[in-house]
Amino acid sequence: MFNIVIFGKPGSGKGTQAVFLKNKYELYHISTGDLFRKNITNETKLGLEAKSYLDKGDLVPDIVTIKMLENEVLSNKDAKGYIFDGFPRTLHQAESLDLFLDTIDLKINATIALEVNEDELISRLLERGKVTNRSDDQDIDKIKNRFNEYNNKTSILINYYKNQSKFFSVDGKGSVDDITSRLFDLVDSLK
Ligand code: AMP
Repeated sequence: MFNIVIFGKPGSGKGTQAVFLKNKYELYHISTGDLFRKNITNETKLGLEAKSYLDKGDLVPDIVTIKMLENEVLSNKDAKGYIFDGFPRTLHQAESLDLFLDTIDLKINATIALEVNEDELISRLLERGKVTNRSDDQDIDKIKNRFNEYNNKTSILINYYKNQSKFFSVDGKGSVDDITSRLFDLVDSLK
């Protein structure tokens, strides 16, 4: 079993590349952002709880996010491996994920960061906002708030995974195909 965390700032291409990795390595893809958006669309209790945070570009509280993630893993236990996209995003989430995976005899094998500078990310997100109608991609203040959330709460995880010798970084600039090949080369070298 090979379990991957795909890591990076908003707009770095995590979701796009997670799908290629999922298909090639037969992983089950869990995107916490997609799960929240699905719950918001379906107006579930969880969706109502999460909506105000997504609207502002704030992180949803850990207690809500961790429970949702654990339920998603437990509902798909026959997976050959998982790719976690957009989770963990805080130290508490990362520690909880390790503890939780341990209870089902699993572990993270690699955390792979897509590196892209913020100017490029802002233009990618504004472009995506036109296509997807995501309100958090259409407003520069919300985008900047998401970068702040990343810098204040998520970037600390680089050291967390470096200390476990599980952190790998990939250049996230260039064509989608080029980035996919870089990721495949890295994962092949780790498996
Ligand atoms: P994403 O689609 O990954 O860019 O996530 C969109 C939004 O969903 C984020 O700005 C947060 O409001 C929320 N979200 C997604 N994943 C998490 C997480 N692991 N922890 C807290 N909030 C999250």
